[in-house]
Amino acid sequence: MNETKPQQTIAYFSMEIALESKLPTYSGGLGILAGDTIRSAADLKLPMVAVSLVHRQGYFAQTLDADGGQTESPVVWDVAKSCRELSPRIQIEIEGRSVHVRAWQYTVEGIGGHEVPVILLDTGLPENFDWDRTLTDHLYGGDSQYRLCQEIVLGIGGVRMLRALGHHDVARFHMNEGHAALLGLELLDERARWFQRERFDHDDVEAIKKQCVFTTHTPVPAGHDKFPLDQVRSTLGRDDIFDIHEVFCCENELNMTYLALNLSHYVNGVAKKHGEVSREMLQPKDASHHYQIDHITNGVHLGTWASPSFADLFDRHIPGWREDNASLRAALNIPEEAVWQAHQAAKARAIKEVNRRTVAGFDLDTFTIGFARRAATYKRAELLLTAPEKLKQIASRVGPLQIIYGGKAHPKDEAGKQTIRKIVQTSEALGPDVRLVYLEDYDWELGAILTAGVDVWLNTPMPPLEASGTSGMKAALNGVPNLSVLDGWWIEGCIEGVTGWAIDGLAKGKKSKNRTPLDAKSLYQKLEKVVLPTYYGQRDDWLRVMRHAIALNAPHFNTQRMVQQYVVKAYFE
Ligand SMILES: *Cc1c(COP(=O)(O)O)cnc(C)c1O
Repeated sequence: MNETKPQQTIAYFSMEIALESKLPTYSGGLGILAGDTIRSAADLKLPMVAVSLVHRQGYFAQTLDADGGQTESPVVWDVAKSCRELSPRIQIEIEGRSVHVRAWQYTVEGIGGHEVPVILLDTGLPENFDWDRTLTDHLYGGDSQYRLCQEIVLGIGGVRMLRALGHHDVARFHMNEGHAALLGLELLDERARWFQRERFDHDDVEAIKKQCVFTTHTPVPAGHDKFPLDQVRSTLGRDDIFDIHEVFCCENELNMTYLALNLSHYVNGVAKKHGEVSREMLQPKDASHHYQIDHITNGVHLGTWASPSFADLFDRHIPGWREDNASLRAALNIPEEAVWQAHQAAKARAIKEVNRRTVAGFDLDTFTIGFARRAATYKRAELLLTAPEKLKQIASRVGPLQIIYGGKAHPKDEAGKQTIRKIVQTSEALGPDVRLVYLEDYDWELGAILTAGVDVWLNTPMPPLEASGTSGMKAALNGVPNLSVLDGWWIEGCIEGVTGWAIDGLAKGKKSKNRTPLDAKSLYQKLEKVVLPTYYGQRDDWLRVMRHAIALNAPHFNTQRMVQQYVVKAYFE
């Protein structure tokens, strides 16, 4: 086929992108989402190029001692083995020094063969100073200065590298989270240079806004990157940008979320509720600006997250489901017995993994709860263990329980590490009817095994702090119902008793300053009165929920639908 028109490319910028399970270029949900977005864009044959950093030493590998104490170690990977080195080099200015940047290309191929190149920026070059060489080593490592320098490499270096690679045809720059917001500065400078002006002005801002799209993921103000203006000034080596107050604003610090907001014509949160929360949180108190913030609910790449047994099942009963994710609604027609068998196969894999790694002796017939995600405190991982005695009682009255935990705490997150210790230490007090393991080094591969291989997927965030959450979508796809606090995507995905169950301590208009005990009570109640009795006593009802989890959640909570919404609302509108 001859291309007659130049393609209009989408440039997708993300600080982390999960490309393969064992390539350590991601830390959690944000990176998985970025990877799933790119995989679906490739399936949809979208002209996209992605940009990130090479993260030579990754995020980290986690080991846990007997008390649950976390130790981190770097994951050094062989970049040249998985990626192709590209020839162009570019330079950027950091702290008055020239930093040389090279690029590696990882290629994501879609189901029809369409390719999306992922450009990984790398400052590990001999011509750079020692410190500059390390700038693309550690994902979310180092201090605030290290982070700012990484964001300069990603944003400014990313745009320059795309141009050096011949991408002069970019229709949209998509900032996946605020880390990439400095790309806007480079676009402003480019435009000023084009018109041979010394510096950019308000018209340039309006012009580049048309090219930029911003997705925010963080519903807490403290989660947004901010840098003192003095630090920004000395690191970038320039002062002029702060004259454009409408863009580079705010109280002696540069807030990357506001920078991205000020430079984008389309902004979205990642679930309906998160859109509302972001509109509320990000509106300046003095009403100086009004930001339009929409929402596009996240998804997962179904071909990536269907376990082998469910992929097989779908291939037999719903051929073409990878090309047409919405067709999974026909899961309601798959015989219940076949769904059960596919589930038991996925569960056998998870049980085998637990027994390979631990001495817990898990078995296939015991009801199994999964909880695995970053060990951030707002996720309240220990909610299930609020009252160990109560849990033991429930298990002895209704039926035994197995619980699988997993998740890394950020190296500097002491509270997150303490949560892991507490869970590991509680496991000893649970007695014979409640077995609990905390598996080390949670990553994509373990995530895939667990989301498909437990009987129920538990999520207990403190609302409204779970912007979306995606692990529950992976579970639903594999016929694993969610038992979750109503937050993020689950507000949209939960039909009580049909696709899973809500934990809601504040039901019936209750108000409380401390909802955690109420949520714990609601969780125990649901487990004791509904979830466990159904699993052990009413297998037909259980299977009905499993099939509805697939048929009602998977056709919608996928990145194929999500990317199509970005196309219509943000990319080519
Ligand atoms: C899907 C996934 C996540 C996101 O999980 P949430 O429960 O949405 O936070 C994080 N880490 C890994 C490895 C995943 O696969």
